[in-house]
Amino acid sequence: MKERVMRILLTAIFMIIGAMLALVTISPSLHDMRLQQLIIFSLLLVFLALSYLPKFSRRTKPARKTITVIRCMQCDYKMERDFQEGDYVLKRMGTCSCGGELYIDMIYDVEIAKPLTR
Ligand SMILES: [Zn+2]
Repeated sequence: MKERVMRILLTAIFMIIGAMLALVTISPSLHDMRLQQLIIFSLLLVFLALSYLPKFSRRTKPARKTITVIRCMQCDYKMERDFQEGDYVLKRMGTCSCGGELYIDMIYDVEIAKPLTR
């Protein structure tokens, strides 16, 4: 079964249980044994459903990191490194080995293949 379908189903179950509990709380005349048994049975069903939930909610959040690309104004020199605080596009980064000026060309976000472990 698809994850989305499962979630909708679970939400529906919760809503039914919630409605039943509210009904019982509001009207004392409904406090008979059969209904209580039904509620207990429903709660068991919810717990059963909940035990399946972690399997569906465990999403692998893609880890991201920011890369700064440094280029030289004169030669083809290009370097990529992790973003550091204070980096901004066109920031002067010193002098290249060729004598040209180094600057930040791009700052971008990449997805790291390794899933984020909790
Ligand atoms: Zn250079």
